[in-house]
Amino acid sequence: MSRVALVTGGTRGIGAAISIALKDAGYKVAANFAGNEEKAKAFEAETGIPVFKWDVSSYPACAEGIAAVEAALGPVEVLVNNAGITRDAMFHKMTPEQWGEVIGTNLTGLFNMTHPLWSGMRDRNFGRVINISSINGQKGQMGQANYSAAKAGDLGFTKALAQEGAAKGITVNAICPGYIGTEMVRAIPEKVLNERIIPQIPVGRLGEPEEIARCVVFLASDDAGFITGSTISANGGQFFV
Ligand code: NDP
Repeated sequence: MSRVALVTGGTRGIGAAISIALKDAGYKVAANFAGNEEKAKAFEAETGIPVFKWDVSSYPACAEGIAAVEAALGPVEVLVNNAGITRDAMFHKMTPEQWGEVIGTNLTGLFNMTHPLWSGMRDRNFGRVINISSINGQKGQMGQANYSAAKAGDLGFTKALAQEGAAKGITVNAICPGYIGTEMVRAIPEKVLNERIIPQIPVGRLGEPEEIARCVVFLASDDAGFITGSTISANGGQFFV
């Protein structure tokens, strides 16, 4: 029987690659999105992966959204917390709204999504929670105090929850991508990409969304059952921890 996987922010960028890779690996996949209906519907039509709209920063919306996914596909056994946003500003110019939105989606979103699913995973003695953090949560990034704080928080959440889930067959891991060639990164002017960003990456190129997706498929698998509380740094050699 194929397992059910839910990917937040699963209709674009890294999340879309994760949804597709999990489907190709035999999972029944649901992809959540926030508001870009046109993109989500095109993704659904193209891949056959059902899409579900809700905001991960709202606990009631997550509980309702998860119930809709489980009614359609069955109990969620693999959760990929991928949805994320940036609201960059130097700290002296950062507004409470920019702080709150990023913490709400990128950190509180993990609580909101994982908490409603946790009891079911415990009851079934199986679960996979895979959190997409960031290199900037490991090393910090100027202009991203909010994002770096949230992504570092994701790593603490991962390590704490891994200890709670271990005896119940639930693994909790994180992936920290470096620069990945999504729309967001490709929108950076080519000159900046070629002269400032790519020279910082020892492998000499951006990562591909599929390279993150393959890490997710491995962590979701039965083969990865002894790996929990870990962080995979997928950044082309840019930063080691
Ligand atoms: P994109 O901006 O391409 O896609 C983001 C996805 O998240 C979209 O599907 C979006 O939905 C969804 N989303 C955003 N906010 C919410 C919300 N509140 N509720 C539900 N869904 C939401 O992002 P990337 O693919 O670039 O990034 C994916 C993850 O990887 C993020 O967590 C990001 O921080 C992390 N990351 C990315 C890196 C990169 O280089 N791209 C590097 C390191 C980490 P909608 O389409 O409706 O807006």
